[in-house]
Amino acid sequence: MIAEQILTRSEEDYVKAIYNLTLEGEPASTLRIATSLSVAPASVTNMLQKLAEAQPQLVLYQKHRGVLLTEAGRLAAMRIIRRHRLIETFLYEVMGYSWEQVHAEAEVLEHVISPYFEERLAIILSEPILDPHGEPIPNRNGEIAANDGAVQLSQVQAGQRAEISRVISNDQALLAYICQSGLQPGIAVNVLTRNPLDGTLQVALNDSDQGNQVLGEKIAGAIWVLVKLH
Ligand SMILES: [Zn+2]
Repeated sequence: MIAEQILTRSEEDYVKAIYNLTLEGEPASTLRIATSLSVAPASVTNMLQKLAEAQPQLVLYQKHRGVLLTEAGRLAAMRIIRRHRLIETFLYEVMGYSWEQVHAEAEVLEHVISPYFEERLAIILSEPILDPHGEPIPNRNGEIAANDGAVQLSQVQAGQRAEISRVISNDQALLAYICQSGLQPGIAVNVLTRNPLDGTLQVALNDSDQGNQVLGEKIAGAIWVLVKLH
């Protein structure tokens, strides 16, 4: 079990946002954090100072260089992400939520369930390793599967074949659209054409009656795929 450090809901949201913004190892700027949480940069500065003074310290913060998580901060992020993704899996598999509904609900519930509730979820779901969007669920020790080599569909060239690995967005309307278009994890797509001016893709879905689809850059950017070698 990951040792519990009690954080407020807002602190949890910051730690999670910083985790997502620093996946490549580069510090996150105050501005990027403000944008990702839809808050004013001044409130970000205040919160970063608070997280840097927490016991144990959650972030390494230097005013003009940005912020990184400490190991305690990374573990806190893993704990929240584990809860989020277990809740999504439960809502989808047990409660009959649709695939695009689960994220918004999990954003709320991730802050309120107890460690016991989290443990029961993992057991009832038979220790799942992927959430309904195809994202890996961190284990009890805060370890998470490494990136599987997936790239955004918007980066795939015409003529390439790929399998959808995960669909990631905070925009529920966008998720709903993608879901209704049959673009779910596990589905294979062929990129037929790629407009070099605006990045619009024409794709064919295999094993689906949805036929060909035209996808703008925003949609293709939310879909992560594993490119198949012919
Ligand atoms: Zn989610």
